[in-house]
Amino acid sequence: MDLDHDALTIGIDLGATSVRVAAYSPAAGLLETSIFPTRIAAGPVGVVDDIGDNVLRLLKVYSRSRPCVGIGVGSPGPLELPAGRLHAPPNLPGWDKFPLLHELQDRFPHSVFLDGDAKVAALAEYVLGSGKEFSVDSLCMLTLGTGVGSGIILKGRIWHGASGMAAEAGHLTIDPAGPICGCGNAGCLEAYASGTAIVKAAAHFAADDTHCFSPGRADGTHALTAGDLAIAARAGDPEARSIYDGAGRALGIALADLINLLNFPLYVIGGGVAQSWDLLSSSIFEELHRRSYVYRLTASDGPASQAFPGGTRVISSRLGPEAGLLGACILPLHAPPHEHEEALGDSQPDPHATLR
Ligand SMILES: [Zn+2]
Repeated sequence: MDLDHDALTIGIDLGATSVRVAAYSPAAGLLETSIFPTRIAAGPVGVVDDIGDNVLRLLKVYSRSRPCVGIGVGSPGPLELPAGRLHAPPNLPGWDKFPLLHELQDRFPHSVFLDGDAKVAALAEYVLGSGKEFSVDSLCMLTLGTGVGSGIILKGRIWHGASGMAAEAGHLTIDPAGPICGCGNAGCLEAYASGTAIVKAAAHFAADDTHCFSPGRADGTHALTAGDLAIAARAGDPEARSIYDGAGRALGIALADLINLLNFPLYVIGGGVAQSWDLLSSSIFEELHRRSYVYRLTASDGPASQAFPGGTRVISSRLGPEAGLLGACILPLHAPPHEHEEALGDSQPDPHATLR
């Protein structure tokens, strides 16, 4: 796509605890980012009002010298597309059936492009990160944060499925007898490999006074985080190591399924927990070799890689925690031109019409 490098976009990364709003241009990257808490108690309209104030301020400053081509939004799910409506998002109480796209569009003079937070992170990784580095046309990304999100880029486009809910890899079943997940199923990937799951797994060790994992916790100054457990694991704590090993195994099992299903050249692990790639990767690759013959045959560093140019790569994100915000910023530059009209209800030509 031929991009106007001097164009301006606004990106919105809507999270359950905070919102990030940024001004962006392809030539200059992130121009300015503002971060503010998500006022859950104010309800969805109150949060959208806060977003509106911040977007209009950035537009006032930056749209004088650059033409604004759109506003991109990455939102938690479940998100129905193209309608742009949320369905009982577990971390945003009171947002069930909230028409996020319409509420945002009503506030701005520029087109609003809305997509799932992990899907826009995958778009950023494809356009600006490892997708660019390895010149691939398709990739699958898993984001390990409060939950486990995922996004599929298929031949350069975000893959949405019929209702916008494709690529829910966080809810692939790893063990039918496993812990109950927020989605209602048991033993989902998210119940093993999210930051929340890692902290939960530590709870029965941490409940023991002799085992607090983190010096700060001994005097009750802060709640245990997945980052504390990573530090403990690197220092040799056997319980912390086994928790990360379990998360890596669950990821390896899910990735083996995804690789067997998709045969893409690139799988990217991002989100906060992916910063512990050193603790996850050996069990991920062990499971991949055990469970995916497609991976064994095509691994980019494997013995048969000469026969499969390009091969299969499984790596950690090149963009780190910025992927979601950058993805929202570039969404208006990469969304197919008809998507905005379709989202707001304009009729589209029926591709089957001539067959009837
Ligand atoms: Zn689930």
